[in-house]
Amino acid sequence: MDFLDLNRNLSEDDIALKKGAHKFAKEVMRPIAKELDEMSPREVIAPESPFWDFMRKGYELGYHKILMPPPFGLDLTPLQQTIVMEELAWGSAGLTVALTVSCFHAFLGCLNPEEDIVKNIITPFCDCTDASIIGCWGLTEPDHGSDTVMTHHPLFHDPSIKAQCRAALEGDEWVINGQKASWVSCGTIASHCALFCSLDNSMGMAGGGIAIVPLDLPGVSKGEPLNKIGQRDLNQGEIFFDNVRIPKSYMLIGTDLYENMLELTLSMTTALMGVFGTACARAAFEESLEYAKERVQGGKPLIEHPNIKMKLFRMFQQVEVSRQISRAAYLYNKDNEVPAEEYSIVAKLQGTQAAFDVCCEAIMLFGGNGLSKEYLIEKLFRDAKAMLIEDGSNESLAIAGGHKLIQHYPRISGQHSI
Ligand SMILES: Cc1cc2nc3c(=O)[nH]c(=O)nc-3n(C[C@H](O)[C@H](O)[C@H](O)COP(=O)(O)OP(=O)(O)OC[C@H]3O[C@@H](n4cnc5c(N)ncnc54)[C@H](O)[C@@H]3O)c2cc1C
Repeated sequence: MDFLDLNRNLSEDDIALKKGAHKFAKEVMRPIAKELDEMSPREVIAPESPFWDFMRKGYELGYHKILMPPPFGLDLTPLQQTIVMEELAWGSAGLTVALTVSCFHAFLGCLNPEEDIVKNIITPFCDCTDASIIGCWGLTEPDHGSDTVMTHHPLFHDPSIKAQCRAALEGDEWVINGQKASWVSCGTIASHCALFCSLDNSMGMAGGGIAIVPLDLPGVSKGEPLNKIGQRDLNQGEIFFDNVRIPKSYMLIGTDLYENMLELTLSMTTALMGVFGTACARAAFEESLEYAKERVQGGKPLIEHPNIKMKLFRMFQQVEVSRQISRAAYLYNKDNEVPAEEYSIVAKLQGTQAAFDVCCEAIMLFGGNGLSKEYLIEKLFRDAKAMLIEDGSNESLAIAGGHKLIQHYPRISGQHSI
């Protein structure tokens, strides 16, 4: 379905990228996501699974390096990144997350692009076309979920809150011990991890570092793929580290920059979650619009009943509002040394809540068919529920965002005053 874009300045390139991504989402992602949704977590990642067809095609098209900065990636503008990401997530939120986290180790490697990191990490990933190099983001731990994302909140500096995954410097190597949670996206299939681990537990969660860990090293093991209700096409699982040794240069960020770098990363990922939410809400709106044209009740198509027109308009409103704030927050915070994470949190809360609310409303509009596996709506609904927790629960992000807002309010009002 072709919709207006409120941005009248989209270039021919922007539109071509959008069309290309939409075609891939419609022809490849939607059908594969449906198949995967009905498989067990083990079947999803088995060698013969269509998941690998999707990953290989995505890598061939270069979608795994959308976020990589120049000179390594596709050289897309931040706006183009959001346009492509929205189309892909319209095809499937779970599969889009799989592709997105795949670049995390290489993306963060760009923070410290020393020769060995470029040669061993960044270049092989960008050149990969068969999905044999897959990254993941190891942040959450079994005992620490929200604790890990509440940067600049007093809890983040509470020394009594101690991380479970730690690294210690021994000579020229960092030695890693501990565990990351079963929520790590691509956790059981990844070849590399962008590991956020503790270097100094006396600083609470703020005493962290960011490392690249090749997952074929001695001492790494993985758990079972996680079974869950939403985004079932996304592999997730635990990673264990038992005296895993990495070169000193693979620790990209130390405790001095950790909190700010995490905030910067979250400013990008939470805004992207807003984009994914927009896409999911849009998919549910479009399904509803088509269904309402065809389903006849009370002697006429649903769409001719005034309350249905109003419901469809409210859905459209949610999609459009979500797109505007998500794009704006991503564009503002991308490559901004001092991010305004509160705007990315607004984007995540708006976009993902819109996804959930539009999906709930869509199920009602579909009536009994909304509950049936024959229609896409029930899958979108389950995927949207996962989004409310993914990359930080909306509630704890709002708590952290409220704290930032109060702290930064003079800065914000100063910046924008006229
Ligand atoms: C689909 C999906 C993909 C994910 N991908 C990744 C990934 O790639 N890598 C990774 O590391 N993690 C990943 N996660 C994990 C995700 O970041 C965590 O689930 C999230 O941060 C919430 O943590 P938790 O599940 O431990 O919940 P908890 O932190 O235990 O929170 C439970 C409840 O308590 C509330 N709460 C928590 N703390 C406070 C507080 N201080 N004050 C008041 N209320 C509070 C929360 O809002 C929530 O409602 C993913 C999760 C999902 C669902």
